[in-house]
Amino acid sequence: LKPHQKELFGQPIGLYILFLTEMWERFSYYGMRAILVLYMTASTLGDDVRGVGLGWTSKEALALYGWYTMLVYIIAIPGGMIADKLIGQKKAVLYGAIILCLGHGVLVLTDIWAFYTGLGLVIIGVGLLKPNISTMVGGLYQQGDIRRDKGFSIFYIGINLGSLLATVIVGFVVANYGWHAGFGLAGVVMVLGLINYIGGQKYLAQVGNHVEVTNAEDEVSYGKLYGKLLNSPKQLFITVILVVASIIGWYFMDWGYGLLFLFLAAIAALLMMIFRELESQVFKDRFIVLLLSFIMVIIFWGAFEQAGGLMNIYTDTKTDRMLLGWQVPTIMFQSLNAGFIIIFATIIAGLWAKRKLKDKEASSLFKMATGIIIMGFGFLFMVFAVMEFEKSGSSSMLWLVLAYLFHTIGELCLSPVALSFITKLAPAKYASLMMGVYFASSGLGNKVAGILGESASDFGEYAIFSGIFSFTVIIGGLFILILKPLKRLTHGAEDNEHVIE
Ligand code: GLN
Repeated sequence: LKPHQKELFGQPIGLYILFLTEMWERFSYYGMRAILVLYMTASTLGDDVRGVGLGWTSKEALALYGWYTMLVYIIAIPGGMIADKLIGQKKAVLYGAIILCLGHGVLVLTDIWAFYTGLGLVIIGVGLLKPNISTMVGGLYQQGDIRRDKGFSIFYIGINLGSLLATVIVGFVVANYGWHAGFGLAGVVMVLGLINYIGGQKYLAQVGNHVEVTNAEDEVSYGKLYGKLLNSPKQLFITVILVVASIIGWYFMDWGYGLLFLFLAAIAALLMMIFRELESQVFKDRFIVLLLSFIMVIIFWGAFEQAGGLMNIYTDTKTDRMLLGWQVPTIMFQSLNAGFIIIFATIIAGLWAKRKLKDKEASSLFKMATGIIIMGFGFLFMVFAVMEFEKSGSSSMLWLVLAYLFHTIGELCLSPVALSFITKLAPAKYASLMMGVYFASSGLGNKVAGILGESASDFGEYAIFSGIFSFTVIIGGLFILILKPLKRLTHGAEDNEHVIE
């Protein structure tokens, strides 16, 4: 641990402050997310206790939902950049939390302008808070401290505790007091998160501070990097190709995609320039590994996020949900993931740590590739479910429980591990930016998931589930095959991890 950090249960107390802040933030995020589509599609007549909805078609609602869930994570890139360059992570989290309180507060109002303004503020708030609070967790540990991975697993429990409580409580509040009470509750809870964060500042004294740089070398200047692009033929060429491709995409798809592609082209140019400027081969190699690991991240979330879409619909329409004479509500299956995380997070982290201490292979890349494979096997159970449905007209809910169990174990091998990995490998002055790129990758994964889910209406569930199963297992296997050279590129970033007293 860094010097002078008070501990509780072998972890710095700051971890628990960040745990609680993120728990309340995720409560507000997932609580609001759970009711968003329902609110948009609810009737404008206001003929039930929940009040007036927006009366949109489900296609319109799902389209906005897809963009929204992607944007909250894409905006993590500017969120990270602002922290690295201007204010440091600690202030970025603070401002993000305040903006989130405002956003959820505005959503209490019933006007349509309030709806869009509220969503916009939530996107900005999450973008500032989410990547930076994760980087701060990493900042609690010294290089080489084996407790870092476990710390991230504990932090991940906070995330899922928030999401579990939200899906249960917000659903109840909306059913009894209406949509805007649900949005309001998310706001109140975010205020709790903010109070907790401000109150816990003394335990975070050493993390997330913006360091004023004195020499030009250490300064983060995105403007200069873009300026240098003009003198870098190779990078400029790739950027021009990406921009042209974006414009073509704009022409054939809609303007939303066009803007997204342009934004991604701008980020790709920035990453290429950062890579060029990195002073040593070690940093360059680590940067490449990091970017390669983001490919795993996109594939993972692209498959995993079927949970809220296709698997949700499958549960609702094709699963026999009778249990001892009681029909289990579809929405309860959405809580399985968070519930399993809370049960298994520390167990899985403990298992890896034991392996590591025995000096066996347990690098982050290995865990992440294993995570993709385990998650992929979850889809095999969905294939069995579809086969049973085709034979007998409904399928057992046991398949879903097994699928979600495997998805969760896979998630625990990948998601908290990836967070931790980034804090080990990213060049220090771009730590938050790289965390932002990680979340943006998961945002793209969300979008891929939506596209895959939609295509089930053309190809059928069997093809989609078995396709995801084969693809993810093969990709995970390929990453394991190239693990040795990849690990070499990390230049021992994880080799010397040990218990630091
Ligand atoms: N469930 C995780 C969270 O809310 C996943 C985030 C992500 O990487 N997309 O933090």
